[in-house]
Amino acid sequence: MPIATVNPANGETLKTYEAMGEEEIERRLQLAEATFRTYRTSTFAERARLLHRAADLLEADQANIGRVMTTEMGKPVKQARAEAAKCAKAMRWYAEHAEELLADEQPAAADVQDSGASRVLVRYRPLGPVLAVMPWNFPLWQVVRFAAPALMAGNVGLLKHASNVPQTALYLEDLFHRAGFTEGTFQTLLIGAGAVDGILRDERVKAATLTGSEPAGRSVAATSGEMIKKTVLELGGSDPFVVMPSADVERAAQVAVTARVQNNGQSCIAAKRFIVHTDVHDEFTERFTAAMRALKVGDPLLESTEVGPLANEQGRADLEELVDDARRSGAAVLCGGERPEGPGWFYPPTVLSGITREMRIHREEAFGPVATLYRAGDLDEAVLIANDSPFGLSSNVWTRDEAEVDRFVRDLEAGSVFVNGMTASHPAFPFGGVKRSGYGRELSGHGIREFCNITTVWQG
Ligand code: NDP
Repeated sequence: MPIATVNPANGETLKTYEAMGEEEIERRLQLAEATFRTYRTSTFAERARLLHRAADLLEADQANIGRVMTTEMGKPVKQARAEAAKCAKAMRWYAEHAEELLADEQPAAADVQDSGASRVLVRYRPLGPVLAVMPWNFPLWQVVRFAAPALMAGNVGLLKHASNVPQTALYLEDLFHRAGFTEGTFQTLLIGAGAVDGILRDERVKAATLTGSEPAGRSVAATSGEMIKKTVLELGGSDPFVVMPSADVERAAQVAVTARVQNNGQSCIAAKRFIVHTDVHDEFTERFTAAMRALKVGDPLLESTEVGPLANEQGRADLEELVDDARRSGAAVLCGGERPEGPGWFYPPTVLSGITREMRIHREEAFGPVATLYRAGDLDEAVLIANDSPFGLSSNVWTRDEAEVDRFVRDLEAGSVFVNGMTASHPAFPFGGVKRSGYGRELSGHGIREFCNITTVWQG
């Protein structure tokens, strides 16, 4: 894939970049290693001051970088600005909490005595240069949720961003630099996916994190496994959204629309499979389908647009194939389902019912504004359908019955359960999945400790 900004709203190529060659990559790896040697000894206060400064700059740049993101990957510009604001918030959160999250830990006095030590402590030390392979769907957020904790922990970052968001990738490098981080603390590598393997094999790179598709995750994890390097993987999702009879069905249907179409439906934590108890199935379906049909699809640079184009041509073709496969196998198309005429990679909000296990869309991730509906006879059946997926990122349940909440929390195979609300990430809460959605956690104390050398210090 060429490294280029191609506007998904009209297919126009706005800017192209040469991929960095071997010499430039080598220069940057050397710089990362050299920078780490001194950066690792900086204090939390120094790092926090710089990260607060980066947050200030990002807040001031919201409108500009928002437009850049929209022209690179098509999200509605309002959502792009909100993404920038969220990144600034996460930077501040880590600037304020990292020291406490990584404070030395003291094992229980009885255990210290039992080991024969006079003193034992556990210290979180940084690992070194960490490679982040990131996707285009939240081009700022995916990177910041890695970079803010990594830099606060004393690591340095190397970013290999998706090839279709080079301007956002370069903006991030510049942002950290303007904030006062020295040049090698956070660097963008303008490279294609094929160059990742060699970098992972380089001894100077100590660990890697990847957000993206399963094949990309598998490839990075395989090489890292061979090299015995720690990885965190945040891959796809096909989150269930379960509605039970005691739920506020009107509210559930409203939130379901946002949960499905946020970011033009291209979010790993978007609700994708709507599993509705038979008692409220028809009411939910009617409300949900009407609201999906009413969404304003169009130019993502317009403030009033709710759904823009898909990020690239291949993404639309893949989504179309999933819908066509389901239709051929008997699914009913309640709204959408037809590619519009005209330029840009638009696809309408679509609702499918009558989904069966044989359909690809039942087990694959629909990365676009396409919802699938299921009818469940009771809670057990709802859980069975929800767990009948290779993915396990997040889940949403709507019920006012506490016993049902307990059952869902006990039984759903997912990295989070959101009750009467849609899945969203927050800097203070762990984020990540099980099954083929990946492993490891981002955000919170769990996220910042992923790329630390957890060091036991024993004194006799
Ligand atoms: P990819 O997984 O291909 O891209 C994500 C990142 O991984 C990009 O930086 C990409 O680089 C890089 N990459 C791709 N292949 C490899 C590889 N073999 N080794 C190392 N790095 C690699 O996602 P796509 O953009 O192709 O989207 C395809 C599907 O992935 C979507 O339809 C969706 O299902 C899923 N996805 C999930 C996301 C999530 O948030 N969990 C985000 C994006 C996609 P390059 O751009 O240069 O190819």
